Amino acid sequence: MPGRAFERVVAAFRLDTNDPHLMQAQLAAFSKQVPLLYFTLAVNSAAAAFALYGTAPFVLTVVTPGVLILAVAIRIVHWLRHRNDPFDASHAASRLKLTVRLGSAFGVLFLTWAIAMMQYGDATSKGQVIFAIAMTAICCIFCLTHVRAAALMVAMLVIPPFTIVLFSSGERAFATTGLNLALVAGAMMYVVLIQARDFSRMVRSQMETQRLSDENLRLANLDSLTELPNRRQFFARLDETVARAQREGRKFTVGVIDLDGFKPVNDLYGHFTGDRLLVETGRRLAALGDDNTFFARLGGDEFGMIRYDDVEQALPFGEIVCARLAESCALPGVVTRVAASLGLANYPDSAQTGEALYESADYAPYRAKQRRAGRPEMFSAELRSTMRQFTLIEQKMREADMDREFTLEFQPLYELGSERPLAFEALARWTAPGLGPVPPDVFIPVAERSDLINRLTQVLLRKALAEAMTWPQDIRLALNLSIHDLISSDAVVKIIAIIRASGVAPGRIDLEVTESALVSDFDKANEAIRAFKNLGVRISLDDFGTGYSSLAYVHKLPFDRIKIDRSFVQEIDTHHAARDIVRTVVTLCRNLDLQCVTEGVETSAQANALKELGCTTMQGYFFARPMTPHAVSGLLRDLEAGPALLPRAVNG
Ligand code: C2E
Ligand code: CA
Ligand code: CA
Repeated sequence: MPGRAFERVVAAFRLDTNDPHLMQAQLAAFSKQVPLLYFTLAVNSAAAAFALYGTAPFVLTVVTPGVLILAVAIRIVHWLRHRNDPFDASHAASRLKLTVRLGSAFGVLFLTWAIAMMQYGDATSKGQVIFAIAMTAICCIFCLTHVRAAALMVAMLVIPPFTIVLFSSGERAFATTGLNLALVAGAMMYVVLIQARDFSRMVRSQMETQRLSDENLRLANLDSLTELPNRRQFFARLDETVARAQREGRKFTVGVIDLDGFKPVNDLYGHFTGDRLLVETGRRLAALGDDNTFFARLGGDEFGMIRYDDVEQALPFGEIVCARLAESCALPGVVTRVAASLGLANYPDSAQTGEALYESADYAPYRAKQRRAGRPEMFSAELRSTMRQFTLIEQKMREADMDREFTLEFQPLYELGSERPLAFEALARWTAPGLGPVPPDVFIPVAERSDLINRLTQVLLRKALAEAMTWPQDIRLALNLSIHDLISSDAVVKIIAIIRASGVAPGRIDLEVTESALVSDFDKANEAIRAFKNLGVRISLDDFGTGYSSLAYVHKLPFDRIKIDRSFVQEIDTHHAARDIVRTVVTLCRNLDLQCVTEGVETSAQANALKELGCTTMQGYFFARPMTPHAVSGLLRDLEAGPALLPRAVNG
C-alpha cells in the first residue's frame, strides 16, 4: 500500500503524455495564464530589487533582475507571436515539457537570487523580499494549475527550501511567515490536484461528446450500406465545388452512374444478393477515387461522381469506371455482371449550377441507355437540344386532345405457309399540332417520364379494340404496354375493364411487354401479368435479347410468346453470333412450348435464313409495313376475295 501511494505521488509530478487531447486542452488553458505568470514574476523581481537597491550589490539589484526581466520579456514576445498557432499532439507534449522545465528553472533561479538578496538590508527590506517571493510562488502555482506537474514541481522546488531558509534565520516573524507559506502552499497543492483531476475528467467528457457528435455527423453523411458518402453529402460537395470552381476559374465534371441490370439481380436472386452487388460497386468506386475524384451513392443503384479539374480526361476516366463496374462480380449463389451507364456534365460548359449539372449528367445516360449501354456519355449541345425538344413534346402532349391527335397503325404478323395474318400489332402514331409527326420512339419515353402514359395507353387500347371488333374472329390483336401500365395497379384494373367492355374476346388479345418493365419492378409486373392471364389474354415478351437477363425472366413468368428483337434479324446474314442466338431461342421456345416471333424482317434473304433456323412466325417491312386501319380493312377484304399476298419466297 505505501508503495502504491508513493507511485501515485511520483505520477502526480510527471506529465501525463498518454492523452493527446488532454495535453492540448492543458496547453490551451495554461496559455491563457502565461502573461499573468510573467507579469507577476517581473513585477515581484522589480519590487524586491527596488527594496534593496543601494544596499545589496549592483549585480543583485540591477544585473540579475535585469536579466530575469529581459528573459521574461523574450518569453512574452514569443508567446504573443505563437499564441494562435495550431498545435498537434506531439507539439503540445513538447511545449508542456518545456513549460515544466522552464517553470522549474525560473523558480530555482528566482529563489536563489532572492535568498542571496536576503543577506542584505534591514528587517523591513528583507520582509519585502520575503513577501515578493511568497507572492511569486503562490501566483506561479495558481497560474500553472492546469499543468499539474509544473505546478507541483515549482511548489516543491521553491516552498520547502525557502521555508528552511526562513526557519534558519532565527527571526520569529520570518519563521512564522515560513510556516504560514508552507501551509498555504500545501493547501494550494491540494487544490491543484483536485483541479487537475476535474479538468482531465471534463476534457475527456467533452472529447466523448465531440466524438459522438462527429460520429453522428459522419453517419448522417454516409450511406450505411456501401459506406460511400451519401446523397446529402454529394449535393453539399457539389455546391461547394461549384463555388470553388467559380472562385478559381476552374472546370470540373459531374457524373451520374446507373447500373443497368441491377434490378434483375435484386428481383431474381433476392435483396441480400442485390445489396452485396451494391457494396461491391461501392468498393470498386471507392478504389477508383482519389484526391480529385469523389464518389457517392445517391440511392438505389444510382451513384454520383465529382471530378475536379482535368475535364479533358473525364471521358477516358469514365471509360475506366464503366469497364471496372462491368467486370463480373461473384455474389453469394451467383456470378453476375451488370453494365454501368455513366452520364457526365462539365462545369461550366454543360451547366452552371449544382442542380443543373446533376440533371444534365442524369439525362445523358438516359440517352446513353438507348444508344450504347456501358459507356460514358458526355452531356453535349446536341443533348441539350434533345432535352429542350423533350420538354416541348411533353408540353404539347399535356395539352393534347389524345382521342383526336393519337391514331394507330397496324402491322401484321405472319405464320409461314399462311396468307392470312395471324395478328396485327397496334402501333401508336401522333401528329402534334405545330410539331408534325412525332415517332413513338420519342413520344412514348416522354409520356413515360411525365406520367401521361397510362392515359395514353387507355386511349390507344380503346381505339385498337374498336378496330379489332371489325376484323374476322380468328385474327388477333397485339398491343404494346409500357412499364408504367404494369406497375400501377390502378392502370391494370382500368386496362382489364376496357378489354371487358370492348366486346373483343380476351383470348384474341396479345399484350406485349418489354423486359425493361420487368426490370423496373419485378413483383408488380409479375402481379399484373398474372392478372392479365387470368382474364384470358396472352402475353408476349417484346424486344427479346436486348436486356441482360431475358432468359431468367422467361423461366419465371407465364409468357405465351417471345419476340426476338430486330437487331438479331438485321445481323442474321452477317453474324454467326446472331444466328446462334436465334437458333438457341427458337429451341428454347420449342422446349418451353412458347411461340416465337422474329420482328424487323426486311429482306427475303433474312426471311429465308430465319426459316432455316426454325422460325415460323415473322413480322417486318418485307411482309408489310404498319398500315392505317383503312388499309387493314382493305387487306382483309382482299384476303376474303382469295389471292395470296404473301411473298412467294417464304410462302410454305
Ligand atoms: P416495337 O414494339 O418493337 O414495334 C416494332 C417497331 O419496329 C415499330 O416501330 C415498327 O414500325 C418497326 N418495324 C416493324 N418492322 C420493321 C422492319 O422490318 N424494319 C425496321 N427497321 N423497323 C420495323 P414504331 O411504330 O416506330 O414503334 C417503335 C416503338 O415504340 C415500338 O417498338 C414500341 O416499343 C413503341 N410503341 C409503339 N406504339 C406503342 C404503343 O401503343 N404503346 C407503347 N407502350 N409503346 C408503343
Ligand atoms: Ca411490340
Ligand atoms: Ca419489338
